[in-house]
Amino acid sequence: MLKGIKYTLLSMFTVFKHLFKKPVTLEYPEKRITPPEQFRGKPVVEGCIKCGTCIKVCPSGAIKIEGDEFKIDLNKCIFCGNCQYYCPKKAIKLGGEYELATEDINGLELTYSTEEGVNVTSSVEQTTRLAQEEGVNVTSSVEQTTRLAQEGDVNVTSSVEQTTRLAQEGEGE
Ligand code: SF4
Ligand code: SF4
Repeated sequence: MLKGIKYTLLSMFTVFKHLFKKPVTLEYPEKRITPPEQFRGKPVVEGCIKCGTCIKVCPSGAIKIEGDEFKIDLNKCIFCGNCQYYCPKKAIKLGGEYELATEDINGLELTYSTEEGVNVTSSVEQTTRLAQEEGVNVTSSVEQTTRLAQEGDVNVTSSVEQTTRLAQEGEGE
């Protein structure tokens, strides 16, 4: 009986103690956290010299290099940070982006150019998103993607085709 009263009082004390404190949770998605510097989110690659070290230390086999394209499969990546830690050029960084869910499983493979840091995939993603959400002129976006990719001296044909196809699908919705 006495024990019961003691625990009831303790519980009430705990409730009152937290009653006027600021909440530690956020009303996601209206509010979002800013991750700390050490956060291991979406990997970003820039300035890669294709030494292959990250491929060797990646425990899940998520990385591959095909020609001038550096690819990370987020289906396999476990965000361990090994690639970032061992990269001799500090070319790979697990950034602060954490909202990585997608309805398109192919969208989980990130592709970066190993030359001059031009990110073809993100150009395509950005173009597609803009075209779908804001009704921008797809033709000029495709031209811009082409120009960006050409400045990076990478193969743009498939990127432009993909951009066009995705944007057209977006227009058709
Ligand atoms: S974070 Fe880990 S699992 Fe992901 S690509 Fe880098 S080494 Fe591989
Ligand atoms: S990201 Fe770094 S470790 Fe991986 S291939 Fe490029 S330079 Fe080498």
